[in-house]
Amino acid sequence: MIKDLKAEIRKISAVGKTAFDLSLFVGDAAREASPGRFVSVGCGQARLLRRPLSICDASSDGLIRLVFEVRGEGTRWLSERRAGETLDVLGPLGNGFDLKASYGLPALLIAGGIGAPPILFAAKRFDGESDIVAGFRDRDAVILEEDMRKAAGTVTICTDDGSYGECGLVTVRAERLLKEKKYGIIYACGPAPMLKAVAKLSESHRVPCQVSLEERMGCAVGACLVCACAVRGEDGIEYKHVCKDGPVFNAGEVVF
Ligand SMILES: Cc1cc2nc3c(=O)[nH]c(=O)nc-3n(C[C@H](O)[C@H](O)[C@H](O)COP(=O)(O)OP(=O)(O)OC[C@H]3O[C@@H](n4cnc5c(N)ncnc54)[C@H](O)[C@@H]3O)c2cc1C
Repeated sequence: MIKDLKAEIRKISAVGKTAFDLSLFVGDAAREASPGRFVSVGCGQARLLRRPLSICDASSDGLIRLVFEVRGEGTRWLSERRAGETLDVLGPLGNGFDLKASYGLPALLIAGGIGAPPILFAAKRFDGESDIVAGFRDRDAVILEEDMRKAAGTVTICTDDGSYGECGLVTVRAERLLKEKKYGIIYACGPAPMLKAVAKLSESHRVPCQVSLEERMGCAVGACLVCACAVRGEDGIEYKHVCKDGPVFNAGEVVF
């Protein structure tokens, strides 16, 4: 059943130079949170559509953590909220990563930009038995590095312009790791071109891969067709809803 919640903001603060860290009290619904699942957050009465945000963490005391970048009107409104205010939140929604798919082997986690929050949540479930490769535009865009270092075995930060960490694409570092170590699964979240490149890596190294897709969403519960994505079905190309059937898909089925 989809839960329509009144969630109290417990804490909101800037994280890095580009993002905000939001802690929400959602009560029992926090138990249904898992890496890759998301909530749809109401952004004021002036905006009809809620905004989808991945769950970055959840605790047994009813809190969930969201980390978001200001992209447009809705996320700007959200960034201006204060502790004690209440938000309309739908969720947790979506399927999430299948965390049993690694069959006891380590996981390779790949994040691009604001794809980092669900990747951090996944790393926490692997108890240090994972390696993270996270890519950002530049030094100022790097987020959650400290949290990722606490959660994963190794963390490599890559920046497009080389202003921090390794210079270049996450896939270069990920390919080196795939040659050096045996992984049971790859989980990835980030922009579509990155996910497409990761899907190719998973195919060439024969390591299963699950990707979390970011599509523009309308209702977030499968009633409208805004977030349709093309997948390979038994009879050719089919369309699925990212909100209801995803946001996580096997990389091999997605038509990028
Ligand atoms: C499953 C999922 C998880 C996400 N998790 C995060 C996260 O953890 N942190 C984060 O910063 N961002 C995340 N996003 C992207 C985030 O939803 C958008 O940045 C946000 O909706 C932009 O809203 P806006 O009003 O600020 O921008 P505007 O561009 O003004 O938004 C206008 C409309 O487009 C929709 N929209 C715009 N961009 C996107 C987008 N990229 N994806 C989906 N809908 C969009 C909005 O919902 C709104 O209806 C996620 C998206 C999806 C689909």
